[in-house]
Amino acid sequence: NYTNTETVIETLTIKTTKTAHSRLAETDKTDLPFGKYFTDHMFVADYIDGQWTNLEIVPYGPIEMSPAMSALHYGQTIFEGLKAYKQADGSVSVFRADKNFARLNKSAERMSMATLPEDIFMQGLAALIDIDRAWVPDIENYSLYIRPTMFATDPFLGVRPSLTYKFMILMSPSAPYYSKPLKVKIETKYTRSVDGGVGAAKTGGNYSMAMLPTTKAHEEGFDQLIWTDAKEHRYVEESGAANLMFVVDGKILTPEVRETILDGVTRDTVIQLAKSLGYEVEERRVEIKEVLEYAESGRLTEAFAVGTAATVTQIYEMNFEGKAYPLTDPASRTISTGIAKKLNDIRYGVTADEFGWNW
Ligand code: PMP
Repeated sequence: NYTNTETVIETLTIKTTKTAHSRLAETDKTDLPFGKYFTDHMFVADYIDGQWTNLEIVPYGPIEMSPAMSALHYGQTIFEGLKAYKQADGSVSVFRADKNFARLNKSAERMSMATLPEDIFMQGLAALIDIDRAWVPDIENYSLYIRPTMFATDPFLGVRPSLTYKFMILMSPSAPYYSKPLKVKIETKYTRSVDGGVGAAKTGGNYSMAMLPTTKAHEEGFDQLIWTDAKEHRYVEESGAANLMFVVDGKILTPEVRETILDGVTRDTVIQLAKSLGYEVEERRVEIKEVLEYAESGRLTEAFAVGTAATVTQIYEMNFEGKAYPLTDPASRTISTGIAKKLNDIRYGVTADEFGWNW
């Protein structure tokens, strides 16, 4: 029962080859930079002749590929990011995997790629977590980051959608992505996504095109960027690889999801939690100008980024065209920290999962 529905599914056959040498004992479980270490195994599947086949769990390691593989040349490549958490009772739980599955296929459709059946995603994930369950970290705020990915494998240089794909799930025991509050630059030159583009898809190119502007911002002393719309640079959209939220006059204000913004699972989760805690949530286009005015007048009491890797990360200063806008002391922020605590308590099984998010 992986989608919190009563769907009964057929059990798939997944060929499993266990590693002869586990790396678990030699991995320092207290030093786990985000995305650096991988568990012993990975799940793989191939799309050939219109069907998903070769469902396998194999030791984590290099894969063979053609140098002409179309993903390398034309960027048909998508991924997801979700997490598994060690529960208070010692079991392991994955958070909202059904949402990540749905978004993977949404990305696949936008990038003209094959879609994946839900049972392959869910059963592959469950079998992989089960085999590597000893890798799920036991330290507060640590988790097992899960990276499903799919890419085009045709050895063909013609520009057209590939006919073959590989799907893989990798897992990386990780500390949180950000360890401290952020100083961000509102970016008005470079752009992450455009109307009619692929901003709402989790595709590789969205992340490579963000690297140069982000590196420049780092060189200027900022931790991260706030992306704005491509047309007018008038509206704030996202922050790095996370969605953006503000508290204005005690209400939560967040850019509405549109085709230029990734529909974040954490964003949706935080909105639902906020509403359940009695806060008003406003989802609409949010102008840079109004955010800066709220910051200057003191109406903006909290600003934070939300994402699976980012969790809930506070923003302590915004910068717009050379002018700094210091925000409230992150330690004083009760609304976002209260929501983050509730979210963590559900993820780690400390409190009842009234929403049915844990699987
Ligand atoms: N925006 C972008 C561009 C992202 O890459 C991510 C991370 N997946 C998010 C927002 C946050 O999404 P989620 O909460 O589903 O991780």
